[in-house]
Formats: sequence, structure tokens, C-alpha cells
Amino acid sequence: MLKINNLHVKLEEEDKVILKGLTLHVPAGEVHAIMGPNGSGKSTLSYVLSGKGGYTVTAGSATLEGADLLEMEPEHRAAAGLFLAFQYPVEIPGVGNMTFLRTAVNAQRKTRGEPEMSAGEFLKVVRDKAKTLKIDAEMMKRPVNVGFSGGEKKRNEILQMAMLEPKMCILDETDSGLDVDAMKLVSDGVNALRAPGRSFLVITHYQRLLDHIKPDVVHIMADGRIIRTGGPELALEVEQNGYADILAQVQ
Ligand code: ADP
Ligand code: MG
Ligand code: MG
Repeated sequence: MLKINNLHVKLEEEDKVILKGLTLHVPAGEVHAIMGPNGSGKSTLSYVLSGKGGYTVTAGSATLEGADLLEMEPEHRAAAGLFLAFQYPVEIPGVGNMTFLRTAVNAQRKTRGEPEMSAGEFLKVVRDKAKTLKIDAEMMKRPVNVGFSGGEKKRNEILQMAMLEPKMCILDETDSGLDVDAMKLVSDGVNALRAPGRSFLVITHYQRLLDHIKPDVVHIMADGRIIRTGGPELALEVEQNGYADILAQVQ
């Protein structure tokens, strides 16, 4: 599904190199977790994949089902099935949540050359999915994320994901700022979307999220590259010993 090979990325404006030869393969249907110390480049990786500006790729490749992601405009990456749930969801004053979602769904359909979803069908689908995530009708009418609590924003991200039905979902620290109940809701939402043709990259600081969203593979990232890959037990090792031991083994 997602193949990243030897990716090198620097900041566009400065000579600061952030990703230093990152290689990562996520097969279809699998859930991979990335853990790593703050500042290792996890958010940068998700930004570069989604097409956010400000970064320059100096070497390496990233493909989604064989298509070159780095050559595509952001909206084409999304239409190809890439979705990023942000660490800090943006607030969009003046745009109702429901309107935003419908516009996003139909824009994606248009880019794919598919017909729009009718208003009736959209309402039915969105109500159904919002209910599962305990997002009430009032929240759907408010401007996107404005005045939402941390937990509401993250649930709203998962609702966007559920509506867009992506193939490759990247969750950047979706658990940060969530209490236990909100984490359970978000995890249940993610787990409900697990499917053979859909992959997940779950970026997290904490093992706790991975009790709910069980990963097939866990990667440890430090200083711009993946330094270790293992099974779920690797997350437990980090939880118990921190990153120091793992970092020491590579140096
Ligand atoms: P993580 O998500 O793993 O905490 P980030 O990708 O946010 O790491 O950041 C990696 C490194 O790159 C950090 O040292 C961070 O300060 C730096 N960095 C990322 N984006 C920028 C930016 N736009 N300007 C300056 N430094 C940046
Ligand atoms: Mg960070
Ligand atoms: Mg980050």
C-alpha cells in the first residue's frame, strides 16, 4: 500500500535536515505504529506525505499503490486514498461542520471523476457515522472544530476519515490530549474502519493507544529514520524502558 524508500527531507527555508533516509513499507490491510522521541520527525513525515508545503525532498521515494505520491498535488493524494488525521486539528470559523464534510466528500468524488453524493444520502451516512462516534447533531452544525474540546476535535477527525473512506490512514498523535473515554471512542472508530484494503499508520508517544488499536508492526523512529521494527511487544519494551536502551543499541 505505502512504500517509503530512503526518504530525505529538509526544511525549504533553512538547511535543517529532518528525515535522513527513512524506509517504511505498510502492506494493504495492516496497522503499523510509529513511536519515537519528540523531535524525531514523525509529524514531518506525515506532512510530507500529505503534501504540506515548506519541505524539500532531497532524495528517496514515497508511493501509494505504486503511484508516486511526491509528484501529486495534495488533493490528488487525498483522492488516491491518503488521509491524515492531524496532531492539531485546525479550526475553520464560519464553515459549518456538516457543510465542510459534504464539500470534502464531493470534492474528492469530483477529483476522482465520480458523481456527487446526494444531500439525502450524505445526511443518512453522516448521521450514522456521527452516532457511532457520539458526535451529536449540535456539533455537526457548529463551525469546524471551533470551541470543540480536544476529544471532540479528535472524534471529528475520525468522522472525516470515516466519510472519506481512505485506503491509507495516517493518525498523528491522535491520542494526545484525550482522556480514557475519548481514547476508547476514537480507537473504536478506527477499529471499525479496519479492512483488508485499508492500512493505518498510527503515530503515538504512548503504548496505551496500542492496547486499543492493536498494531501488526511497531517501528521506532529517531533522528529522521526508522531504527527498529518489531511486533507489538516493542511498544511494551518502550513503555517499560523508555527509548534510551533502543537508542544506545544503534549508536
Ligand atoms: P515529532 O513529530 O517526531 O515530534 P517533528 O516532525 O515535529 O517531530 O519535528 C522534527 C524536527 O524538525 C524538530 O527538531 C523540529 O523542531 C523541526 N522542525 C519541524 N518543522 C519545522 C519548521 N517548520 N521549522 C523549524 N523546525 C522544524
Ligand atoms: Mg512532537
Ligand atoms: Mg509530532
